[in-house]
Amino acid sequence: MVEVRFYDTVNDELLKFAVIISQSNGKWVFCKHKERDTYEVPGGHREDGEDILETAKRELYEETGAITFDITPICIYSVTAPDNFDGMETFGKLFFSDIYTFEKELHSEIEKIAIMDELPINWTYPEIQPKLLEEARKRGFLPKKEEIKWLFFDVGSTLVDESKVYEDRMKRIADLSGLTYEQINKYAMSFYKENKKGDLEVARQLGVKLPKWESQYERLYTDTKDCLKKLSRIYKIGVIANQSLGTSERLENLGVRKYIDLIIASAEEGVSKPDRRIFEIALERSCCKPENAVMIGDRIDNDIVPAKQLGMKTIWVKQGLGSLWNITDESEKADIEVNNLSDILNFL
Ligand SMILES: [Mg+2]
Repeated sequence: MVEVRFYDTVNDELLKFAVIISQSNGKWVFCKHKERDTYEVPGGHREDGEDILETAKRELYEETGAITFDITPICIYSVTAPDNFDGMETFGKLFFSDIYTFEKELHSEIEKIAIMDELPINWTYPEIQPKLLEEARKRGFLPKKEEIKWLFFDVGSTLVDESKVYEDRMKRIADLSGLTYEQINKYAMSFYKENKKGDLEVARQLGVKLPKWESQYERLYTDTKDCLKKLSRIYKIGVIANQSLGTSERLENLGVRKYIDLIIASAEEGVSKPDRRIFEIALERSCCKPENAVMIGDRIDNDIVPAKQLGMKTIWVKQGLGSLWNITDESEKADIEVNNLSDILNFL
């Protein structure tokens, strides 16, 4: 049994090792030893008379070829194990380094360095080094693991295909205005591409009343059910939607209500997207922190921008007319963009 402990200070003479958790450009820097098939955090033994910070810098250079870097002490760690120094507690100092430049060749027993997005699976010291990383994380040296607990979906053009409803609406506008469906459609598209609501804009400009939303033409996308079914096994599922009264019943009729734990719809709540209050209501009722939630929707203005402002993660599903939106600045950029719901499964 290997025991790893952490201290803020110990007598300097006790420090025999330096271990340097390293990153470069936001990616992990690990070493692969010539005789091993596993990965390790750079580090090594302190030499006689050497200052422990010098040990860390020397080892970092020898093991990774780092030439320019920042290095900061994190804490002291100790290892106690029966097969390690006869069960004596041994001490080392843990550092964090951000490496800017590397030398081309390595001059040590290290075969190569690995720069990776994810932590390795095959650690050289699996009972020790993952614990050192966790401690560094706890002490604020690494980004906190942001665990996703809740997925909040928009309804229209995210879970529900509204293309037939829009088609009906455009046809009615055409009838009322004396233009063809094709002309109306083209006209509306040009507004959507300018990040405006095309149907409203066309009706307004032609001086006709916006035809009623015929929800009987709504249907699920072919992958909605399967996607919700799979995701609901792992996450809590919520809905945050601008919908008329009766969202729950409509989702029930579509056969997906059973996968959804919480529905927050504008008509029942008296507040609509993009007002941040509707998102706050959803987070409050789900007892979920924004960083543990993902908002998934087709509309940049209604779904992505406000959720992002609140600190939720965001996925833009480029379906329906919302996909015509032109991103103009950083606040509109979702964390992930997908072309359909099934693609979400690759990320969650
Ligand atoms: Mg929508």
